[in-house]
Amino acid sequence: MIEHLQDSETYAAPRRETDFPIVIVGAGFGGIGMAIQLEKAGIRSYTIFERADEIGGTWRDNTYPGAACDVPSHAYSLSFEQNPDWTRKFSPSSEIQGYLLGIVDKWKLRDHIEFGVEIDEARFDEETGVWTLHRSDGETATARVVISAVGGLVDPSLPDIPGIDAFEGHTCHTARWDHDYDMEGKRVAVIGTGASAVQVVPSIAPRVKHLTVFQRTPAWVVPKRDAEYSEAERQRYRRFPLLLNLSRAFKYWMSELFGPIVYLNAPRLSARGERISLAHLRSQVKDPVLREKLTPDFQFGCKRMLISDDYWATFERENVTLECDPIEQIEGRGIRTKNGTLHEFDAIVFATGFELGLANAPFPIYGRDGRSLNDAWAAGAVAYKGMTVSGFPNWFILMGPNTGPGHTSVLVFTEAQIQHTLGAIKKMRDENLRYVDVRQDVQDHYNDRIQARMPHMVWGNCNSWYLNDDGTNHSLYPGPAFEYVAGACHFEARDYECVKFDAPATSADEETAAA
Ligand code: NAP
Repeated sequence: MIEHLQDSETYAAPRRETDFPIVIVGAGFGGIGMAIQLEKAGIRSYTIFERADEIGGTWRDNTYPGAACDVPSHAYSLSFEQNPDWTRKFSPSSEIQGYLLGIVDKWKLRDHIEFGVEIDEARFDEETGVWTLHRSDGETATARVVISAVGGLVDPSLPDIPGIDAFEGHTCHTARWDHDYDMEGKRVAVIGTGASAVQVVPSIAPRVKHLTVFQRTPAWVVPKRDAEYSEAERQRYRRFPLLLNLSRAFKYWMSELFGPIVYLNAPRLSARGERISLAHLRSQVKDPVLREKLTPDFQFGCKRMLISDDYWATFERENVTLECDPIEQIEGRGIRTKNGTLHEFDAIVFATGFELGLANAPFPIYGRDGRSLNDAWAAGAVAYKGMTVSGFPNWFILMGPNTGPGHTSVLVFTEAQIQHTLGAIKKMRDENLRYVDVRQDVQDHYNDRIQARMPHMVWGNCNSWYLNDDGTNHSLYPGPAFEYVAGACHFEARDYECVKFDAPATSADEETAAA
């Protein structure tokens, strides 16, 4: 474990590695990937604070029946920790969690993780270039660099349906599945038709007595074409890692090639996606009335495209009903819809998504001059390349604002952010810098360009979690992943104010005035 420095005096000449404590908040994909890259760079002075009692983030929490990744397994893994042993083309959640547990053990990262520790507040001291983090257990930790790897879609979102607490049966959210509750022979409702619903619905339908899916908005669904990897195939990937690299590269470049269909506001491209989806719908659902109800009326890609081989076909089952009448309220015995019908259930599953963690600071964060990140983000979360925010030196965000892809693996973006952060850490350490703070003009210019592209993207044409209340998009990257990676993977000192230890501390205001 690192020794946390208690005394800010110690920072006068931070030369030894133990004088450069790094904190990573969150032990999901981002935090684990960051830690491995620090290990590879020989930097061991880091601690990971994880509020849960196990690593894994999304893949620890999402254990609902059918939970899986809709990005191909060979692409949805860290490029520096590839896995030849995926059993399917699209990995189930448990296998991804197993992969993460495996690499954590391989790199002995557990020695660096403190579980059950939530960070309540972080405050930067400009004089010392040190962040002080307040922990939920009342202790404090200090760090020269903080890497926020808390993820963007973490805390379950429950709908604001009247009477939600009145239901007398069993309830659960997909991201908090209760494995002790047996759905066998029960009347079950699923509210929501997003990426989680398309996985849970076909998985529980054969087990329950009756399943009713409450759909507010139908989604575009395309075939997944999932299949097992045979033992022979896996052996080939083990023996010839080059094949694994090629498979990964192929999947990545295919997603880049077809990406514009998913993100560009180009009706002719969208129509191609819609044609593929409608053909899939026709092949899965014979009943034209049902097909009509399942057909979206918004442009392809505007909401997240869903990928499933069996979601639509599930509605052809005798024991499954698609309910499109809007929900009026939840009552003790079930769900009442606007037309007055009370649908009675034993259990309600909320497949209603997540609070958008990106919209606000994950906890109160105070940078230079005590400025809070929430104030800086009052008009929407912005960061330079989604990673650094002017006035919040030595603070790096993984999977931050405008770095989500709608068309490829988020890990491509995360790895670039890890490289950028590592570059900054090395620069700070090697040149004995007190802090690096992204220049406001550089950050503004970057975000102006990002927002200027948004009208050319499809996401503004419907409602989704991609958008803030004012309709602006601060979550997705408007372009191909390779472009983001090329621009983000290097730490460019010229984009930052790099302040040495012997330079006097100046406030951002003074600097602006001086300029
Ligand atoms: P989601 O996409 O936000 O979907 C939530 C669903 O709940 C939507 O269908 C929404 O309807 C519905 N809903 C919300 N409030 C409602 C209400 N009051 N009444 C009726 N319906 C209501 O959530 P999710 O499916 O959990 O997915 C969230 C994100 O997690 C995804 O977009 C994806 O990024 C990630 N995810 C990824 C995977 C993967 O395989 N990689 C799997 C699962 C999730 P409306 O559409 O009308 O708002």
